Formats: sequence, C-alpha cells, structure tokens
Amino acid sequence: MRTLGLIGGMSAESTTVYYQTLNRLVRERLGGLHSAQILLRSLDFAPIAELQAQGDWDATGALLAQAAARLEAGGAQAILICANTMHLNAPQVEAATSVPLIHIGDATAAALRAKGVTRVLLLGTRFTMEKPFYAERLSAAGLAVVIPDQAERDRLHAIIYDELVVGVIAQASKTAVLAMIERGVAAGCDGIAFACTEIGLLLDPADMPVPTVDTAVAHCEAAVDFALG
Ligand code: GLU
Repeated sequence: MRTLGLIGGMSAESTTVYYQTLNRLVRERLGGLHSAQILLRSLDFAPIAELQAQGDWDATGALLAQAAARLEAGGAQAILICANTMHLNAPQVEAATSVPLIHIGDATAAALRAKGVTRVLLLGTRFTMEKPFYAERLSAAGLAVVIPDQAERDRLHAIIYDELVVGVIAQASKTAVLAMIERGVAAGCDGIAFACTEIGLLLDPADMPVPTVDTAVAHCEAAVDFALG
C-alpha cells in the first residue's frame, strides 16, 4: 500500500472527515484490520484564512509548497490538499514535489460523470465559485458549471467561514443552502458538487433532490484507488 501525504487543517473539521474516510475505505477494500498509511501535516488555518482574505495567494502557495515538500521528505508517495479552495495553489504544490498531487477537482469531475451529471451546481467558498481554477477543471471534463447568484454566494461563504470551519452546524444555514440547491435544480442543474470539504458536515448528499458529490469523499476515494492501485 502506498503512503498518502495530507495537507490538512483547512479546516481541521474536514481533515477529520478525511482521516476517517480514508481509513474506512481501506478497511472496506482490504478487510480485516487494514487501515490507510497516512502522513498528515495539519496547518494553522488562521493565518491561511487571513492571507486568502487579503488575496495573497503567493504566500499561501509558499506555505503549501513547504508542507508538501516535508510530506514527500517524510515518505509520502502522493499529496492531497484537503480542501477545494486551496487547490488554487495546486501549481505551486506540484512544482515543489516529485510525487503526484491527487487533484480534488479531477476526483469530483469523475464522480459527477459517473453519476450521469451534465450540468452541475458548484457550491463552495467565494474563491472556489468565482475564480476560474475550479470550474475550469470541471469544464475540461465536459461538465457545464453553474454557480449561485451573488447574494447566495455571499451567504454560503459566510456559512463556511463563520460556522462550518469552527464546527457550528445551524438549522438556518441548512435551510439556506437547501434553498440555493432548489433554485439551482429549477434552473436546470442535474447534479450538485459540495465543493467545500465542510458542506458534507451540514447536508447529506443522499438527501439531495439530484445526484450529489461530496468532494471530500470523492477525493478520498481517488486517493485510496492510488494507494491500493
Ligand atoms: N475546506 C474548504 C474548501 O474545501 C474551505 C476552507 C478553505 O478555504 O480552505 O474549500
């Protein structure tokens, strides 16, 4: 089994999901007492969130590149950035290591396509929804990408940064995100991407009106394919 190098802490709430999901998937596939081989570099999210808000993506890229290099030096055979937003720095991470980066956008696109989705509602941070780096990855896989309107994007961004990353799960926020999903489906979306690794803490993909991919889970599935492949 190959060793996976995780850059986590973005946020710690969803890194927990990664740790649990990777170990569960390896146990399900190999049986017995098997679990995943993981190296985790869990970063302090406060300075990263501040740099994101300032738009200093060179500085976040340097932090992630350093984390990736340390994981490779420690024996990681692939790198996972345990967040969607921080894939904005995927090029810096790829440049800093010689092992593959398992890209969450590719894992998400493959999972959406496997569910027959053609037009996806992309839900994530303002950065993930508004900057091209993520939608481009989905478009390259043949998916049409739709994002919520400005007011909905602002609301979702606030739900992520004020609540989900600090472990707050609020009914009013569930209701708000469900309303965004209903509007997206009414506008012709036939699938949803929970393209923020904390949204799965708020809503269950199985309860959604159309096929839905939790990107944290899709990312872990791709990583386990690599680890056991
Ligand atoms: N974990 C989140 C994501 O998947 C948001 C926090 C962050 O900005 O890293 O995008």
